[in-house]
Amino acid sequence: MSELNELYQETILEHNKNPRNFREIEGADKEADGNNPLCGDALRVYVKMDGDTVADVAFKGSGCAISKASASMMTQAVRGKSREEADVLFDEFHKMVTGGLDVETDDNHLGRLKIFAGVLEFPARVKCASLSWHTLNAALHDAGEISTE
Ligand code: ZN
Repeated sequence: MSELNELYQETILEHNKNPRNFREIEGADKEADGNNPLCGDALRVYVKMDGDTVADVAFKGSGCAISKASASMMTQAVRGKSREEADVLFDEFHKMVTGGLDVETDDNHLGRLKIFAGVLEFPARVKCASLSWHTLNAALHDAGEISTE
């Protein structure tokens, strides 16, 4: 097992057990629901904006360990970012898990999110990993809800 894979396993388990920002935001400026029917992952993302900055972001819902860990790390990654920066991260994350971006050789801002490059080896899990990002994107762009199907 590669080092990245071990880090991937450990991080997923840790965030699944203790998800960050797992709560509702009262008076959220933006919300969206995301569903991944293939796995049964369902979550709602809440965003509080301060001008064009993501002042607070949180999520609630249920799903597999990967979807929950990814949502947990997504909230950590985009808090304090501008909407444009969040859009860039969404784009890079999506490309990473679908094989369009090599985290080792292509410029990116993914930082700790790089561990999700590991889902490339598990195609059925790609939608689990990207669900929270699609849902955040829907919230930031007022799309309301998304389904990965
Ligand atoms: Zn899942």
